[in-house]
Parts: sequence; C-alpha cells; structure tokens
Amino acid sequence: MNGTDQFRIKTGSKVDLGKIDPNFHGDYENEDAAVTELAKNSQRLTELQALMTAENKHSLLIVLQAMDGGGKDGTIKHVMSAMNPQGCSVVGFKVPTAEELAHDYLWRIHKVTPGKGRITVFNRSHFEDVLVVRVHNLVPVDVWSKRYNEINAFERGLANSGTTIVKFFLHIDKEEQLRRFKDRLDEPGKQWKISDSDYTEREYWDDYQQAYVDAISKCSFNYAPWYVIPANHKWIRNLMVSQILVETMEGWKMKYPEPSVDLTEIRQKYHAEVVEELGLAASEPVVEEVQAKEKKGKKKGKKKKK
Ligand code: AMP
Ligand code: MG
Repeated sequence: MNGTDQFRIKTGSKVDLGKIDPNFHGDYENEDAAVTELAKNSQRLTELQALMTAENKHSLLIVLQAMDGGGKDGTIKHVMSAMNPQGCSVVGFKVPTAEELAHDYLWRIHKVTPGKGRITVFNRSHFEDVLVVRVHNLVPVDVWSKRYNEINAFERGLANSGTTIVKFFLHIDKEEQLRRFKDRLDEPGKQWKISDSDYTEREYWDDYQQAYVDAISKCSFNYAPWYVIPANHKWIRNLMVSQILVETMEGWKMKYPEPSVDLTEIRQKYHAEVVEELGLAASEPVVEEVQAKEKKGKKKGKKKKK
C-alpha cells in the first residue's frame, strides 16, 4: 500500500470527510497482519533517522491533529518510539499562556520547529488557531480567516529552509470517540485524562469537522501535505502514519557523508600503535595470533623437558 498517494489531500482539492471511512483498514484483515508491517516500518524509520542525523541536512516536522480521543498520544507512543530520542522532540500545544497570548499565534510555534538533522512532533499545533479558536470565536472572524494564508506562508518559509512538513489528521467518528471516553472511564490508568470539556466539546462536533475541512483543504501543498488517516482502528492508523513517514524520508535519498579524515592514515597513526603496544601484529587476526603464540610456547616447553 502506498500511503503517500492514498491518504494525501491534493493541493487545491476540497476534502470531504464524510466520504473518508474512519473504519477503513484496506487489505489488512486484522491487527496481526498490520503489526508485522509496523515492526518492519519501525526498523526502517530507525535506520532513516540515523542517516538523517549523520547527514545533518533535513529537518522533519510532523503535525498531529485530531478530535479529542483521536489517538495523537497513541500514535506518538507506537510510531515515534522507533526514533532515537536524542534526535527527536515532541511538543504539545495547550491553551496559550498569558505570555503566549501577548504574542502572535506563531510565536510559540516557530521557536520549537526542528533544526537540521532533527525531528519534531507537534501534538496539536498552529492549526488550533483556526480550529478551537474559530469554533469558539476566541478571535473575530476577520482575524482567524486570514490565518490560512499566514500559515501557508509560514510553512512555505520552513520548507524553503530545508524542513519537510507532514500533517496528519487522525479521522475518527463520533461513536468511536464516545467508546474511547468510556474506555478512559473504565481504566484507572487513563482516568486522569478525562475532562468535562471532552464531553461538552462533543456538542460542537460538526463545527469542528467543518473547521478541519477548511484547514485541510486550504493548507495542503506538496511542500506541506495533509494526510487524512482513517483512525477508528488504532493498528491501521499506526501502520499508515509509519508508512507515510518511511516514504517521506526515503524520498530524500539520503547517504552517509564521506568520512572527513583519511581512514588508512588514522588506522596506521593511532591503531597500529595500540596493536604494537599490546604485542599483536596489526595485519593479522587477533585470535589466530594469540593461539599461534600459545602453541609455539607449548612446543618449546615440551622440548625443554627432553
Ligand atoms: P489536550 O491536548 O487534551 O491536552 O488539550 C489541550 C487543549 O488546549 C485542547 O482543548 C485544545 O483545544 C487547547 N488549545 C490548544 N491550542 C489552543 C489555542 N491556540 N487556543 C485555545 N485553545 C487551545
Ligand atoms: Mg484532551
């Protein structure tokens, strides 16, 4: 399955979320089949990230958006765990603080975008400023309606500076959301996640879906595409997100940089000395050398006895 083609929202097309089935699971009958594929993708992601660190050229910004309970946290746990934490950051965006509100809405975003060789995952993002902000009229319409162009310009600038941006909308339906809230109620380890607003926001479901339609349709470009991922089944969601990340990073055609030093010279200069110090020949395999020496010693010993 080619995730990049299948789930990408084409530039200029209006997404119809009603026509994208959140229950879709493609040719994968059940979780088992998908889990094997996910493991392969995870291994590939680990390799690709190592290359990315070595090249120190690309930056990757992964934006995760979803309705409450849509699986942003789960995606981070199951997909991003393939990454070396040293080269990866996750940033969650909550209700803005007083300091953040005293600035423009991109201020808190821009300063945490990934540097060269690094991956940053946004758990919510600047898109909240055309989602929750729009649905609850937190700013007037003539302010939020300009933000689509502002966001596009901002993302274009990041892309021009070597940042690849991939944006995932994890698409669940209203019934699945309620099932997940119920799971949270029943599982002691998840109860802390429950908030009143999770339930009261359900009344605005259609407004949010409309806000998502506009954000996705107006802000999907080749340099920063939106992917709508069917997410009622967590296993297909994880598999597809990992698949798209693999395809994206493979598209960079990365190579390990050539060594900056003369390896032969380094071997001779530093390692030959060490081998000599240990009394071992540089050119011969260490084990054989030691074994040969021991054998010689034994023979000599035998001769002496005679
Ligand atoms: P959670 O992701 O469950 O921890 O919730 C974070 C909350 O912060 C959500 O209810 C978001 O809608 C809210 N939030 C994030 N960004 C903004 C923003 N720019 N303005 C207002 N609310 C926001
Ligand atoms: Mg929440």
